[in-house]
Amino acid sequence: MRSQATSPSLPIESKIRLGLPKLYAWYRNNRRPLPWRTHPTPYRTAVAEFMCQQTRIATVIPYYLRWMRTFPDWSRLARAPFARILRAWEGLGYYRRARFLHSLAQAVIRLPGKELPADPGALQKLPGIGDYTAGAIASIAFGKTAPAFDGNVARVLGRLAAHSGRTLPLATLRSLAGRLVPSRHPGLHNQALMELGALVCLPKNPRCPACPLRNTCPSAKNLPSTLRLKPSPTLQREFILLPKRKGKIWLTQHHPQARWRGLHLLPTIMRPPAGSPHTEIRYPFTRYLVRATVFITRNPPAKASGRWMSSAEVRRVTLPAPHRKILDSLGIG
Ligand code: SF4
Repeated sequence: MRSQATSPSLPIESKIRLGLPKLYAWYRNNRRPLPWRTHPTPYRTAVAEFMCQQTRIATVIPYYLRWMRTFPDWSRLARAPFARILRAWEGLGYYRRARFLHSLAQAVIRLPGKELPADPGALQKLPGIGDYTAGAIASIAFGKTAPAFDGNVARVLGRLAAHSGRTLPLATLRSLAGRLVPSRHPGLHNQALMELGALVCLPKNPRCPACPLRNTCPSAKNLPSTLRLKPSPTLQREFILLPKRKGKIWLTQHHPQARWRGLHLLPTIMRPPAGSPHTEIRYPFTRYLVRATVFITRNPPAKASGRWMSSAEVRRVTLPAPHRKILDSLGIG
């Protein structure tokens, strides 16, 4: 017999099941017409899943459309030089995803059939594919009965299965998500739950009156304490130099904390330099919120490796979004 701590009581699970047809009907009428939802091949689904991690959908759409024109299949992506892939990814952030996607394409074209496997366990052995992404690809592109358990699904299920104003532990919600996936249309089920979390069951102010599950949801009138899936970001300080001379900019490929490997960067130091700051920017990086003060200088930092580049060269190389924004604000590059 399972304990209450590891398994939600049957009535709660049954109640959620009863609401699912309403959820599916709501999804069919309200889903956003996202480009990767038409013809969800394994490749299209994988690219969308990689791009959407940590990034707003509205930001992803133009990148996704351009990507599909440039790299329409695994083989074109696998053969492309990595610098070209980075350029296509510039501005999306979290460049590790581009690296993983490239490695994934190279792994896929070596597989028999030159396609992703359908099994979630086999998918997780490939570069960059974790539990959530494997479930999303397996269910959406292959119709496999696998859960896609992300932050949105955790929040929706946490609220639907709340008891006495408290949510269940994350591991319990993960196993509930697995049991709820139907064998018919598992991709639709997973996308409907994620879409509800993205559009209606919002983190701070859920739109309960518009929710198809409001009649069976114990949280519709009594929201449980928030599920904290992400810790607050840690503040970090840094100083960005903008070495500028005779119309050229000096760029490096080294960050003191080994960020953005393979990209071109304005040199960054961890202690304030002499002189007056030009501006200050803030940007998120993984679990950090970085506060960076920018100084325009004539010289690069002593002993740093890098080179002077013309504006045309700066336009051709890939820079992380915060550094590109600094140059854009000065009309450079
Ligand atoms: S009724 Fe409210 S809290 Fe419950 S699932 Fe719907 S939006 Fe979320």
